[in-house]
Amino acid sequence: MHLKEDPIFTRSRKGKKAYTIQEEKVFSSLYDKYREEIEQYIRRDEINLPELSEPDVIRHFIRLSNMNYNVDLGFYPLGSCTMKYNPKINEFVSSLEGFRALHPSQPDNTVQGALRIMYELALYLAEISGMDAVTLEPAAGAQGELTGIKIIKKYHEKNGEKRKYILVPDSAHGTNPASTTLAGYVAKTIKSNKMGMIDVDELAKHLNEDVAGLMVTNPNTLGIFERDIKQIAEMVHSVGGLMYMDGANLNAILGYIRPGDIGFDVLHFNLHKTFSTPHGGGGPGSGPVGVKAFLKEFLPGYEVELENGVYKRKPHGKWSIGKMLAFLGHFSVMVRAYTYIRMVGKEHLREIAENAVINANYLKKLIKDAGYEVPYDSIPMHEFVASGESIKKKYGIKTLDIAKRILDYGFHAPTVYFPLIVHEALMIEPTETEAKETLEAFAEAMKQILKEARENPEILKKAPHRTPTGRLDDVYAVKNLKVKYEEEQ
Ligand SMILES: *Cc1c(COP(=O)(O)O)cnc(C)c1O
Repeated sequence: MHLKEDPIFTRSRKGKKAYTIQEEKVFSSLYDKYREEIEQYIRRDEINLPELSEPDVIRHFIRLSNMNYNVDLGFYPLGSCTMKYNPKINEFVSSLEGFRALHPSQPDNTVQGALRIMYELALYLAEISGMDAVTLEPAAGAQGELTGIKIIKKYHEKNGEKRKYILVPDSAHGTNPASTTLAGYVAKTIKSNKMGMIDVDELAKHLNEDVAGLMVTNPNTLGIFERDIKQIAEMVHSVGGLMYMDGANLNAILGYIRPGDIGFDVLHFNLHKTFSTPHGGGGPGSGPVGVKAFLKEFLPGYEVELENGVYKRKPHGKWSIGKMLAFLGHFSVMVRAYTYIRMVGKEHLREIAENAVINANYLKKLIKDAGYEVPYDSIPMHEFVASGESIKKKYGIKTLDIAKRILDYGFHAPTVYFPLIVHEALMIEPTETEAKETLEAFAEAMKQILKEARENPEILKKAPHRTPTGRLDDVYAVKNLKVKYEEEQ
């Protein structure tokens, strides 16, 4: 289906309106009363928004949405991203008037329900992770990392120490070294061993009094659980370093392992991954940070407290790292996560991990049977990484071609070319919300693609063929942004 859709500005016609208010002077009595205060805030310049009718606006956005792929439309096996189905009850609860129409500056006594949600969610997350205190403030996972690393830094500063390095395994998400650098540390890479886990001997070589901490994703981005983690934590602690856990993959261990019980001092959650919330297109997210009791005083922003049945916001004290975000964080994502946890229920949370792991293992078997290689081939947790390296050698087909062709079969592509330690990587995470039939249909499509690579490679090199736009030169597109539709020559 080829749809023509120009930017909404090109449809603007002078005088068109999406709504009309008959009584133009509704606010006039208030206006008269506060004229002076109000006038200083009145905009003097034209705002230059497009002028359109309601059908113009609705149809524009519905047409755009029809050109897009989304998790309500089909399977989204994007490794590391945990693109699980988002139950509609989350949307219902988070859009209730009493939540949606709040302002964060309202006095505490007018927002007791919202504060209660935040208070209880922080308690649930602490219980789930084995941490002692949780801040809900960070905007997403990467900002949670920055928050956590700043907490580690402040802790060392309070102890009068100036440490230089944060150690990061080579299987880490790119945000880990980035957050480390932004917080003022040097990120040092630790090589993985043949099993795809942190190499303990390699780690030992890098450990000294200049190490502020180790940042680990567990299970890591290969989907492999770091089995030596307790020993690793002891090693890092023995030189005075702290253990940071990137909790983006928490859905793999939920209800089975608590990071706080296996040696971690700080971790961030990705509420928008582990506890649902749609997050394709870059947001919104929420990246709460949990810490052990000895780090509580460094938490950012506010804490919600319960005193004599009343919920109150209380700023953290003098050792707080300060504020990371305006107000209290992304509240609507917190409501979704809260709803998800309450809906699944305490007794059943671990079934999330069970289904995530069994789905990944089943799909890995199907993908291997379909003819794809899986280099770090131990039992994966919630995701696995296949490699298109031998396919590239044999047929001249790149992993990118496979990823583009899978779109023609009605699926979103897996994550490609990440993690960097696997060549021609195809990183696949089915998540716990997908049915067996869906996994089988996806594997069947991957099998067909391999057949095409053998018999008709040209079709792959020019894929996709059935999407609203064909293969784009993404580097050119980034450098020469052109949003207006033009007929293809
Ligand atoms: C998604 C992810 C992040 C970053 O989280 P955002 O919410 O996208 O900022 C960090 N680490 C891992 C392992 C991730 O999968």
